[in-house]
Parts: sequence; C-alpha cells; structure tokens
Amino acid sequence: FGWWDHVKPAPLDPINGVTEAFLADPSPDKINLGVGAYRDDEGKPVVLQCVREAEAKIVGCEFLESVSASVSSKLVEESVKLVYGNNSNVIKEGRFAGVQTLSGTGACHLFAEFQKRFYPESLIYLPDPTWSNHHNIWRDAHVPRRTFHYYNHNSKGLNFAALMDDIKNAPDGSFFLLHPCAHNPTGVDPTEDQWSEISHRFKVKNHFPFFDMAYQGFASGNLDIDAKAIRIFLEDGHVIGCAQSYAKNMGLYGHRVGCLSVLCSDSTQAVAIKSQLQQIARAMYSSPPVHGVLLVSTILSDPDIKSLWVREVQVMANRIRRKRAALRDSLEKLGSPINWEHVTNQVGMFCFSGLTPDHIDQLAREFHVYMTHDSRISSVISTPKGNASSLAFSSNES
Ligand code: PMP
Repeated sequence: FGWWDHVKPAPLDPINGVTEAFLADPSPDKINLGVGAYRDDEGKPVVLQCVREAEAKIVGCEFLESVSASVSSKLVEESVKLVYGNNSNVIKEGRFAGVQTLSGTGACHLFAEFQKRFYPESLIYLPDPTWSNHHNIWRDAHVPRRTFHYYNHNSKGLNFAALMDDIKNAPDGSFFLLHPCAHNPTGVDPTEDQWSEISHRFKVKNHFPFFDMAYQGFASGNLDIDAKAIRIFLEDGHVIGCAQSYAKNMGLYGHRVGCLSVLCSDSTQAVAIKSQLQQIARAMYSSPPVHGVLLVSTILSDPDIKSLWVREVQVMANRIRRKRAALRDSLEKLGSPINWEHVTNQVGMFCFSGLTPDHIDQLAREFHVYMTHDSRISSVISTPKGNASSLAFSSNES
C-alpha cells in the first residue's frame, strides 16, 4: 500500500511516441515514416530467403543449453570476421573477447557496463545527433555523456572540422562512440579519407573507438565496404570495441541476435575480458536465447546460405537507393523550391529530411504522415498516392 505512489510515467520514447500517435489516427491514408526497420513495398516486414533456408536446416534441432554454448561461439567466430575481415590478425591470434548479446542494444549496454566497471571515472562521447537510445544506455550504466559535433544542419552533411576539433579537445584517452556506416539518424557517413584522418587523430589522443555496427551492408550493399571504417582503425593499430546487430541486415529484429567484441593485447587478456563480460551478462540475463542465434550462425557458416544472404543484403540496399532517388525525383517534379540533394547523398535506412518541427506537425495533422521530431524518415516505406505532394507542400511553406 502506497509503495509506488512516487512513480510517475516515464517520458515517451521519441520513436515509440510516433507509433502511438500513428495508431491513434483513424485516417485510411495514414503512413508511419518513423519505423526503424526494413519494410517491403506494402510496408510489411520482410523475412529473407536465407532465414527461411536456415530455418529449414535447424528444424528438429534440440534447443538445449548444451547447444547454446557452441552455437554462441560459432556466432562470435563468424561475426568478428564480418567486421574485422576474414584474414585479420586479431582473429588469427585470438586477440579479441567476443560474446553473444541481446542484439545491438544489448551489445552497447554490456559494453557500457564493462566501461563503467573498469574505467569508473570515464565519460562517453556520443555524436550529435545519435540514435536516442545511446543516451539512455550510457545514462543507465552511470557513465557521464558528452556529445561531439557530427551533423551540419546548413550543409546537411558532416561537420568534419568541428568533429576533428572535438576529438582534439577531448581529454586524452576518452571513449568515443562511432557509427561505422549508415549513421542513424542522419544517413551521413565520413568518407574513407576522413575516417583515416579521424583514426590518426584518435591515435594521437589515445582515444578508445567503440563502433556501433547496426546496419552493416545497408550503406553500400557490400558487407566489406561497410566495414571499411573499422578496417582503417584496425590497420592503424587501435584497440577497438564493436557492437553488432542482425536485426536489420538479416531482418531478425524480434530475435535479438548480436555480438560484442573487444580487442585485446593478447589471447590471455582476451580470456580475462571475456570472463568479465560473461559475468556482467550473467547478472543481467544469465544467457541469451538460443533460437535466433541458431538461425544466424547457420546462415553465416553455411557457404550457400551465406552467399544468398550477401545477395539479399545487396537487394535491400539497392531498393533503399531506388526509394531515395524516387522520393527526390517526386519532390523535384512537384516543384518544391527546396534543394533535396541530401535525400540521395545520405545513405542507409534513414533520411534526415531537414523538415522543421512545424512542418512535421502540419504533416501529421493535415496529411496523416508521421515521423520523429528530428525530421528522420524511413527511406524504405512507400509513399501512397498524395503523400509525396504533402511533403513538397509542407516544405514550400518554409
Ligand atoms: N545502434 C543503432 C545506431 C541503431 O540504430 C539500432 C537500432 N535502431 C541499434 C543500435 C540497436 O538495434 P537492435 O538492438 O535492434 O539490434
């Protein structure tokens, strides 16, 4: 009695808030552009053929704890190859600690807890802007957050000079979170040359790069090209942390399959770090579920199914590019006076449209088009008849 009287409702998550407003709208023309997962032309989630094939292969498999450990290590073994490269020395020499995680969110959270445990005084530098949950994750791990410049609202591109200054001005040995490709929410990535400069400055400052890889394959369509930033840092001899998610590039959002890897100086250190990561996970959720990881490890370790996946990633990335081109084309044909070049310059699932909060409210009110207040829209949701013109109309107002 009275125990929980002081508990007030938590503020709405910006992304879930959009979904709630969308669901409450009775209009048959409504459209939710706030969705953060891949969709087909009818707005439905897609089950990849490689997942179907893996599913057929694991039918009848015993879902026992004894399966779980070996499948988990297979997942880690295959996941690190995807980010660090098949022939990377860190893998050959066992200089990494890797664990299966509850998708990308769980990987970030586990790293944040690990950071707090072994660098209790440290901060995390997050890009401005970033996926909103990064702030929640490091806040809940009691790691103070700072932001570094990333997006330039005028150019709708990267604010490279300010980013480099922030790296320089952060205290030596700071932790930085980087999106290696398809930055969420802006769709703006550094070029290869810029990544090299960032890597060099990290070296000079002795900063720790933590890469959050949630969209490998979605930027270029090629898994290796999308890992280029990480490979550049690897070449430069950095100790790296990396969170990986299969939610988007395998369409396995609901299965929560991910991986956290932390590079180490040798294989003995790797054993110690892995045991600490496992201990932290043990207190949170003991061990991760086994079904999704069986799917992912089957896809990654069967050469035929893997090459099917590689092709399907390419198909999804191509479709994202076509959708961006079609949106820009429609807006231009409708005579919008705004420059929409950024729609096709940006990459990945999200388009940072540049609409103002007033436009966004007007779009929801008058046209039943929903998106987050930062103006991020999904680049894979089809625009039903009439809605492209509503975007153009709204922008004409500015
Ligand atoms: N990092 C970034 C940048 C993301 O956009 C997302 C998904 N929205 C995640 C991590 C985590 O995704 P999940 O936990 O679904 O794998």
